Amino acid sequence: ENLEIVSPFPDVTPKKEFPVHLAIAAAQRWSHLTAFECGFTGVSYTFGDLLDAMQRFGGFLQRNDIGRGDIVAIFMPNSVHYPWVFIGIMMSGAAFTGINAAFTANELRYQLLDSGAKAVVVDPIMESVVEKAIADLPNPPSVYVTGPSQHGRVNLVEVTNDKNTPFATLPEFRADDVLGILYSSGTTGLPKGVKFLNRSVSTHIPMMLHPDIYPIEPATNNHQDTVIGLMPFFHAYGIYTILISSLLMGTKVVTLPLFDPETFIELHKRHKVRVIHLVPPILKFLVTNPMVKAEDLEHIRVALCGAAPCPAEVAQAFKEKAPHPIFFQELFGMTETMPTHLVPIKGKEKLGSCGPLLPNTRAKVVNLSTGVSLPRGEEGELYIKSPVLPLDYHNRPEATSELFSEDGWLKTGDVAKYDEDGYFYIVDRIKELIKVKGNQVSPSELENYLLQHPGIADVGVIGVNDPRFGEKPRAYVVKKLPSLTESDVIEYLKDKVAPYKQLAGGVKFVDELPKNPTGKLLRKIVKEWAMKE
Ligand code: AMP
Repeated sequence: ENLEIVSPFPDVTPKKEFPVHLAIAAAQRWSHLTAFECGFTGVSYTFGDLLDAMQRFGGFLQRNDIGRGDIVAIFMPNSVHYPWVFIGIMMSGAAFTGINAAFTANELRYQLLDSGAKAVVVDPIMESVVEKAIADLPNPPSVYVTGPSQHGRVNLVEVTNDKNTPFATLPEFRADDVLGILYSSGTTGLPKGVKFLNRSVSTHIPMMLHPDIYPIEPATNNHQDTVIGLMPFFHAYGIYTILISSLLMGTKVVTLPLFDPETFIELHKRHKVRVIHLVPPILKFLVTNPMVKAEDLEHIRVALCGAAPCPAEVAQAFKEKAPHPIFFQELFGMTETMPTHLVPIKGKEKLGSCGPLLPNTRAKVVNLSTGVSLPRGEEGELYIKSPVLPLDYHNRPEATSELFSEDGWLKTGDVAKYDEDGYFYIVDRIKELIKVKGNQVSPSELENYLLQHPGIADVGVIGVNDPRFGEKPRAYVVKKLPSLTESDVIEYLKDKVAPYKQLAGGVKFVDELPKNPTGKLLRKIVKEWAMKE
């Protein structure tokens, strides 16, 4: 029997317009309202300023021979400049790739090369990382800086503030144009670029911004919601659930480049934030830290939480700490689904559940060994079908075909069950991916680096549970040099990968790693070792 779960909603119609047209229309409609404001400095852009800056930046790119078919990388923390850079790239006809602002030069170089970026836009504080990343590249990308450059490069803020900078000439867009490439290691292997298209966003918007689901209403003359833009714009959560959605709703976004607890709390109070965006570690911080008082949460009515599993007890404790009732909306999505596909319906909360399927989508829960689809209440791998899909991996047809079953279901690599209301519960993850504070860590990436250490014969990396971060990476190492110590291994990674990818879960030395007959690491067995310890 082929049991399928269908969305409880009637189908919605995809937007006819492409994202760039929707962005222009929104910026025109709300031109006098503030669109983006920096949470630290107060520097702000109205929607009208944004409209000018994005058109000028798009024009600048076009005059630098960047347009259709090209990729422009953004290597910036969240800031008021990110939105015009992002939409400016779209306006030129090019596609963007967002790069994690915590990356080292190694990680940056990998993504620049893998995506084939022709240019990179960088925040002035990170220009030296770019310098290092591109130093020995035969065809380095052009580098543009959103502020004063240390190396005499173009300052894009000057370019886009200059009234004489000509606007972009909009190319003719097509549904299958690539809009962006976000990186994810998916179910296995190294980080890969997930390509999403004009069509993907135009289809997903009416599914996600559905009035029975999305907690924010469009701005009017007397009301505008404010949200805090802390979730990184290089990740699907930030770029889509916050940046794009807010732009289309006329919502003001107060950007934060990093999590500074006091500022984070103060901004929610000062801006009377009604809808708070969270990841589980920040939720936990709000619940457990005595610095956060009930009155700090007085304006909050809805909490959106995603990117990693959120324990029901923590969500419950958050609701109890707040002085007013809060509707808790846990989201489930992945970069490969652009992004969210499960969201609780307004007014129907079940803590621990990510809610039912968005409109226009279907799912199956399949037995891990037989592939048979399971009835409600039973746990198996979650498969999804959605008109947003397929999103494919950039230059990796094999990885793309592995992501889908023969009959076209996207295999999430997550274990789930569903209840009588079609509400889903994510109970486990069977793919290799490790999530640290909601950030992706690819075990293969760390293993590749560690195998270059002369003292290491073999290595397997897994995630071990951590009450604060969700998970932390741990390496199981087979020594080549008997004198190798745990700190040698930990130190070796220090300058190679971002801080959240470090081996905070420690290093264990073993005589041998479990492998299948073809030599593939049996990660499940290593995970069982960790559970026993
Ligand atoms: P990313 O592509 O970085 O968004 O990572 C997607 C993965 O994060 C999913 O496949 C899940 O493993 C995990 N994830 C995201 N949201 C949730 C959630 N609400 N509950 C459990 N896991 C989640």
